[in-house]
Amino acid sequence: RSSAEKFEFQAEVSRLMDIIINSLYSNKDIFLRELISNASDALDKIRFLSLTDKEVLGEGDTAKLEIQIKLDKEKKILSIRDRGIGMTKEDLIKNLGTIAKSGTSAFVEKMQSGGDLNLIGQFGVGFYSVYLVADYVEVISKHNDDKQYVWESKADGAFAISEDTWNEPLGRGTEIRLHLRDEAKEYLEEDKLKDLVKKYSEFINFPIYLWTTKEVDVEVPADEEESSEEEESTPEAKEDEDTEEDEEKKPKTKTIKETTSEWELLNDVKAVWLRSPKEVTDEEYSKFYHSLAKDFGDEKPMSWSHFTAEGDVEFKALLFVPPKAPHDLYESYYNNNKSNLKLYVRRVFISDEFDDLLPKYLNFLKGIVDSDTLPLNVSREMLQQHSSLKTIKKKLIRKALDMIRKIAEEDPDEYSNKDKTDEEKSEMAEKKGQYAKFWNEFGKSIKLGIIEDATNRNRLAKLLRFESTKSDGKLASLDEYISRMKPGQKDIFYITGSSKEQLEKSPFLERLTKKNYEVIFFTDPVDEYLMQYLMDYEDKKFQNVSKEGLKLGKDSKLKDLKESFKELTDWWKKALESENVDSVKISNRLHDTPCVVVTSKYGWSANMEKIMQAQTL
Ligand code: ADP
Ligand code: MG
Repeated sequence: RSSAEKFEFQAEVSRLMDIIINSLYSNKDIFLRELISNASDALDKIRFLSLTDKEVLGEGDTAKLEIQIKLDKEKKILSIRDRGIGMTKEDLIKNLGTIAKSGTSAFVEKMQSGGDLNLIGQFGVGFYSVYLVADYVEVISKHNDDKQYVWESKADGAFAISEDTWNEPLGRGTEIRLHLRDEAKEYLEEDKLKDLVKKYSEFINFPIYLWTTKEVDVEVPADEEESSEEEESTPEAKEDEDTEEDEEKKPKTKTIKETTSEWELLNDVKAVWLRSPKEVTDEEYSKFYHSLAKDFGDEKPMSWSHFTAEGDVEFKALLFVPPKAPHDLYESYYNNNKSNLKLYVRRVFISDEFDDLLPKYLNFLKGIVDSDTLPLNVSREMLQQHSSLKTIKKKLIRKALDMIRKIAEEDPDEYSNKDKTDEEKSEMAEKKGQYAKFWNEFGKSIKLGIIEDATNRNRLAKLLRFESTKSDGKLASLDEYISRMKPGQKDIFYITGSSKEQLEKSPFLERLTKKNYEVIFFTDPVDEYLMQYLMDYEDKKFQNVSKEGLKLGKDSKLKDLKESFKELTDWWKKALESENVDSVKISNRLHDTPCVVVTSKYGWSANMEKIMQAQTL
């Protein structure tokens, strides 16, 4: 079209499209669920706006919040239409081509190292999956604030935008037309589409319709029929010969095949979280998680918690621990308050970027919260201020921590299960190693929680895992540590460093291991910060064994030794000059090594010095 404006795709987007177009990926089905998910997001947005302004919905069909799929077998076009918020011309330019999201390059990298295309939705670039099946795509869109536009591209590095003067007006919303490649003809089969919607889009909260064509038997008066088909009366007509009168008056009828088309509803719009937990199967929870989290990997969520909160603030919630941490979980940790929970008010979707529904450290959880207490007809900003949110947050944290604790308790590797019966043990066998897996993916979040959440610090400390001089290659908990403490041992001993291997050689451990004390290895940089907040656990203090203050029980010889070596320690202190060391002491902390540098109680450990240096470099 001559009036079309041409644009080039942003470079990363272009690379992404090349990868998709040339992909040999066999599961091309995923494009449909990505388009339906976008349609559903767009419908959520307009429904949300309509809460405060009814006008935005428009009238008649335009007000219907639904998704329609249509096939044109002859032209090989599959189209998906929604009456969602639509896109302005500017939206089309930005959202579909010129602005790369943070996930774009992350996804390109993933793909280049053999990643799974199935995860495209999680990276925020799901739309481009259309090029798995189409070689030419048109996006027709009408937003309330703009005219109707057409975006089109053959994925050749460029796209075009024109004001739409030839298609049927959409009223509002978006229609995506896929001109299918020859190899993708199967997506013109109604049954195939029905299966796909069942499989991937079962939990979409808007009706999804397919324009289906059926052959039906129609009875027509025999004499009025002009076709050359042989006449044949229907069985009913024959049976009806009971009165003479009837026989005379009733015209002869015959059956012919006729094709009729109608919108067939493909999904049953149901909210899983509103159902009773007893009625929802594990499989349904799992499927719901996948659609909610846009995580279509093969793995089930690690755990979930489905509950109703009653009292002053009523809400239903369903929380999930994903099987894996997302690629950017800790990347923007400190400047991202957005939780991954979808907030609904009386079943109306409000936001999936609500600030502060959960504390930052729990942002790895996915789920939904549906509140009956929050008001519906106020802006997001007003809602954000609502007093019930504090209560909701508090309850969500409790439930989330309970859910995580249960993963640990049900894990047969865990210390806490040593008293379980055989039957219980075999039941738990399939959960073996679950907590270690959880710890591997999300352990850092628990540590950040200990740092940030003073109220729940003790609960979180229970969830902490580490290796130690006695953990034998496995993970141990603080409770386990305490159960192994020696009689008379008052403190919990730990040491920090960059790796277990390095720490095992540390002279600080010599004497402690000789005397059979257990020492915790903390090897993550965040551990240094963690230990500034975790002062004690179950009335036991934490003692860094490389710091001043290590007490290993009474040693009667120590006093005499201090006396007899006073001259040496005094000389040493002088030789090192007082700016360099606080003091030089005789101590019983070593065994083979003659001397060691110890950090003062409130100073940075040597490991912390290293971390700080690495940060400033
Ligand atoms: P994501 O859905 O994760 O944001 P996509 O690549 O699927 O990523 O879509 C990119 C963007 O294009 C969306 O964020 C949205 O702004 C816009 N978009 C896509 N499909 C539609 C639609 N049917 N209606 C309105 N906007 C849409
Ligand atoms: Mg999407």
